[in-house]
Amino acid sequence: RPIIAIVGRPNVGKSTIFNRVIGERLAIVEDKPGVTRDRLYGIGSWLDREFSVVDTGGIEIEGEDQILRSVRLQAELAIEEADVIIFMVDAKAGVTPADDEVAQMLFRAKKPVVLAVNKVDNLQRQDDIYEFYSLGFGDPIGISGSHGLGIGDLMDVVIGHLPDPLDEEYGEEVIKVAVIGRPNVGKSSLVNAILGEERVIVSDIAGTTRDAIDTPFEKDGQKYVIIDTAGMRKRGKVYETTEKYSVMRAMKAIERADVVLVVINGEEGIIEQDKHIAGYAHEAGKASIFVVNKWDIVEKDDKTMHQFTQKIRDHFLFMTYAPVLFVSAKTTQRLHKLLPVVVNVAEQHAMRVPTHMLNDVVSDAVAINPPPTDKGRRLRINYVTQVAVKPPAIVVFVNDPEIMHFSYERYLDNKIRAAFGFEGTPIRIFTRKKS
Ligand code: GDP
Repeated sequence: RPIIAIVGRPNVGKSTIFNRVIGERLAIVEDKPGVTRDRLYGIGSWLDREFSVVDTGGIEIEGEDQILRSVRLQAELAIEEADVIIFMVDAKAGVTPADDEVAQMLFRAKKPVVLAVNKVDNLQRQDDIYEFYSLGFGDPIGISGSHGLGIGDLMDVVIGHLPDPLDEEYGEEVIKVAVIGRPNVGKSSLVNAILGEERVIVSDIAGTTRDAIDTPFEKDGQKYVIIDTAGMRKRGKVYETTEKYSVMRAMKAIERADVVLVVINGEEGIIEQDKHIAGYAHEAGKASIFVVNKWDIVEKDDKTMHQFTQKIRDHFLFMTYAPVLFVSAKTTQRLHKLLPVVVNVAEQHAMRVPTHMLNDVVSDAVAINPPPTDKGRRLRINYVTQVAVKPPAIVVFVNDPEIMHFSYERYLDNKIRAAFGFEGTPIRIFTRKKS
């Protein structure tokens, strides 16, 4: 779980924000001997991302001369532990020497820092926060802990800086691919066929750090790793012992992947279990590709492919974004098309759309098809912004989230896809109040 630390001098309101971020959950007080102060730990989540929050200044030391010492200590702890640092200052007090001190230390840390200006009770009055630009951390975000204002905006920016947990193991440049599907659809044949392709360089060192066998490889300068699921390679016949077990392994593989290949047996067609597995990839926010295998033994004419695609669309209504590929692991027919599609959907999964372009598209969409009404009130969309990638997360700021309708979210999703693509990836849309 990534760690967010809240740093700032005493009385800027760190614990109020800490409590708002962890919500109803319990904070854990860490009482470390030898440390002059306690740290508060809590678990929070925002827009589907879970994280730990640390309030490094749980207990404050009294007295002016102690302030500098205590913030210095806090900043050190935060720099050491945190993935993202929320640097909190006080709008009413302005920039103080202690703030400058913390800023200096955070600068050297080279970790993402988000500057939050607390006690801004009127967010419209931006002049309260201008002077904090001088701290050198870009746009300060005005919040009010006691009124609960601006916290959402702050957290949007914070989670945008959270590291992708998947990148820790293999690095950002490596596309992590999970191959999932029922037993006998041809997963292991498919993997072997990909690895056996021309110009594929398979690394000797297969990752055997955990219970799965990962295979790193490279083709045309792009690095990949195939995340194994149980029994896939069948080295010495490792069979899936029970259905339940294999589904669990598949779920684990999906969680570690960027792109999921949902393998379907072209000869047998789609069954309920396929739906279940694909649904999990969707829920987990991964990019997906339907790979229809064993196409060599399917009796077909010029309409068969189209008909099969239609069947997939009917069965997986929620995943119309996923491309469909027809291959044969046995004859390697059309297999060379697979990796380029993997690269494409991985890119779309990590794509960030500039805010002004997103707002242009949404304004056009609103002009064509006005938002829904409820009890005589119409939904008004004020602003749209993308706050995260993998999967893309878009926040829609509206006058009243209650009026937003699922079908209108779907409509916006379609318009956004028509404009930008996002092929192969789910998009998360969050509606939030802001006038
Ligand atoms: P897994 O359980 O999903 O890993 O499936 P396997 O890769 O072990 O394949 C199951 C069976 O299907 C094996 O007998 C393979 O030889 C066969 N098979 C796999 N892919 C193809 C294909 O594209 N065409 C044909 N005709 N048979 C295939």
